[in-house]
Amino acid sequence: MSTRREEILRELGLTPVWRLRERTPAAATEEPPPAMSAPQRPAQAATKPQSAHAPRAAPKAAAASPPLADSLDPRAAGIARMEWPQLKEAVAGCTACPLHKARNKTVFGVGDENAEWLFVGEGPGAEEDAKGEPFVGQAGKLLDNMLAAIGLKRGENAYIANVVKCRPPANRNPEPLEAAQCEPYLHRQIALIRPRLIVALGKVAAVNLLRREASIASLRGKVLEYRGTPLIVTYHPAYLLRSLPDKSKAWEDLCFAVETMRGLQNAVTGTT
Ligand code: SF4
Repeated sequence: MSTRREEILRELGLTPVWRLRERTPAAATEEPPPAMSAPQRPAQAATKPQSAHAPRAAPKAAAASPPLADSLDPRAAGIARMEWPQLKEAVAGCTACPLHKARNKTVFGVGDENAEWLFVGEGPGAEEDAKGEPFVGQAGKLLDNMLAAIGLKRGENAYIANVVKCRPPANRNPEPLEAAQCEPYLHRQIALIRPRLIVALGKVAAVNLLRREASIASLRGKVLEYRGTPLIVTYHPAYLLRSLPDKSKAWEDLCFAVETMRGLQNAVTGTT
């Protein structure tokens, strides 16, 4: 293990490095959690397959996801047709929910617009609101280290976004109406990026993407889906800063995500 990786894992509180039991790559939705005694970083597992833009599996039928309002709502339908420049402009000037009133900057999202990995948090905090970029500050540093630990880097095969693009006052959770008004933007981002795998960071992101109430404990370790795109749930980095014991669980989730990604890539390239 490289010195750099040791440093990252030490910072995550994940040394000594544990071992992940061998297991068949997960493919089935709602599969039971893997029997992970402890994680091992799969070497280069997060990297793109040989072709950086190898064909992505066609999304499964969206029947498992509740229908969005975009088929009925002209605003959502308009957003669903936007390309990146229009979408960014629309978010920057959006006043569709009360969160626009106190914001300094909208936080659109950042990263590789052709990424295989999409990480979704709940909403901007004070530092994000000031800079207009998601996951800056201590939580952002931890997220960057989590990405680095699985061979990813902000902006390289990874995109980072939030459920809402404007900061909820006092860092409260977004209200359902706010999340609903903002969802067409995230939905369009996902449609444009076409990630192979979505990682929901924290319960708020998970329940908004999945559109059902559930505990984070009940959602971890499963391959769920957002409108046909596989989705995995783990803890929000800000929570992990306050709850050090759960860092090891987050590491298990990341290893599970890497394993799932490898299975998805192999399914497309025909590798077994
Ligand atoms: Fe618009 Fe979303 Fe900001 Fe609300 S949170 S004002 S819907 S961009």
